[in-house]
Amino acid sequence: MSFSEGLVTVSYIAATILFILSLGGLSSPETARRGNLYGMIGMAIAIIATILGPRVSSVMPIFIAMLIGGSIGGYAARTVKMTEMPELVAAMHSLVGLAAVLIGFANYWDSTIHFEGVEKAIHETEIYLGILIGAVTFSGSVIAFGKLSGRIGGKPMLLPGRHMINLTGLIVVIIVAKLFLGAESGVWGSFLLMIMTGIALAFGVHMVMAIGGADMPVVVSMLNSYSGWAAAATGFMLGNDLLIVTGALVGSSGAILSYIMCRAMNRHFIAVIAGGFGTGGGTAPAAGSGEPQGEVTPISAEETAEVLRQASKVIFVPGYGMAVAQAQHTVFEIQKALRERGIHVHFAIHPVAGRMPGHMNVLLAEAKVPYDIVAEMDEINHEFPETDVAMVIGANDIVNPGAQDDPGSPIAGMPVLEVWKAKTSIVMKRSMASGYAGVDNPLFYKENNRMLFGDAKKMLDEVLAALRAGG
Ligand code: NDP
Repeated sequence: MSFSEGLVTVSYIAATILFILSLGGLSSPETARRGNLYGMIGMAIAIIATILGPRVSSVMPIFIAMLIGGSIGGYAARTVKMTEMPELVAAMHSLVGLAAVLIGFANYWDSTIHFEGVEKAIHETEIYLGILIGAVTFSGSVIAFGKLSGRIGGKPMLLPGRHMINLTGLIVVIIVAKLFLGAESGVWGSFLLMIMTGIALAFGVHMVMAIGGADMPVVVSMLNSYSGWAAAATGFMLGNDLLIVTGALVGSSGAILSYIMCRAMNRHFIAVIAGGFGTGGGTAPAAGSGEPQGEVTPISAEETAEVLRQASKVIFVPGYGMAVAQAQHTVFEIQKALRERGIHVHFAIHPVAGRMPGHMNVLLAEAKVPYDIVAEMDEINHEFPETDVAMVIGANDIVNPGAQDDPGSPIAGMPVLEVWKAKTSIVMKRSMASGYAGVDNPLFYKENNRMLFGDAKKMLDEVLAALRAGG
């Protein structure tokens, strides 16, 4: 069975509509499952229509490639821990970039493709841009993978004159582009393409190495955007409309997400890309500004249960530690027990809590926490003054008052959840170690703050047991 060109076009239109519906569905946790389903159906239609379409002459190599790629992807998706999702996403982006580079070279070397005049110039521009964006995406994503997985330190690497280096690279890439478009021989053209690829790979490494830990969420969504543009450029090279549209959808949605995240962190996009913000990777506070600044007041699980029992309004603030401990199911049980007692319970979600956009929403949805008690930072921040207990579960940077009070702090200006304004705040973590941005947290030393030390899952199990035992 094979599809005619017309049937392929109709299938591509159907797939495009499903991809748009998919993106729309992903905008809210209630519709996210449906959104994913639309995306899966759209992709299945796209793959089947392409394979059975008139442009594929031999199906076997595609099946073999799909079997290998699908097995690796299926295995990775099954075994990846929730906390490792950002690294996996970065690794996937690197593959899109690599594919764009390889397809670009294959297209240039394909002896069956012949264009003349303006068409030749357009085709070569597509190849040049595809390889350029693909190479930056590839090397940038590999470094982002290294940073997010802790294989490369989170500290920004700031070379002297780094903006000058980038500018020089850009000028060379433009000059090489001009020479490439005028190249008479394929050998000279290939050589120029390789020079540009080398510069683009180095630029990707340099760009992401210069970005500090606290800015990684923006970088991940920016690379997501780049991978979309790389795919769109590949679509132009191959003359595949669906790839162009899909790439543009991913590219523009990634760009919008980067913009929204920059706004949430009160950062300028250009400042993020220029790099240098955010430091360590969740280690003990460094000497100087990172040193503990006073005494903390510990609290036990039983005392925590008692404080919660006495409250009439409680806000939970989940962070990366909740994901590490996989404590979301116990959190669900605790909120249920409190609500059964008539206590008002809400969840406050910071836009960069955890290690990827929407990380906390996914975990809470997985534990079946009702959506109507989960609020975004802007919706709930003003409610802390009339809250009895703010329960911080493995969050640190996103509740750091230093972001507001200390202009010298690396996270100065980043909006934070103002948990210290509640009557009592309780911070759950295992030690006095700093969070992702590597800065100490003055919240811990406030008079109305208590520290519940230990693994979040273990301690919450104890709190739940004490709550139940207390009747
Ligand atoms: P943080 O990394 O600031 O803090 C997490 C805290 O959880 C740590 O201080 C750690 O302390 C504690 N913790 C770790 N494991 C456990 C455990 N098993 N039980 C209890 N506590 C634990 O996380 P936040 O969510 O507050 O902030 C997110 C940070 O990550 C921001 O700086 C953000 O910019 C950055 N980021 C966000 C991304 C995103 O897209 N959301 C992507 C990449 C980075 P201890 O070791 O003492 O237990």
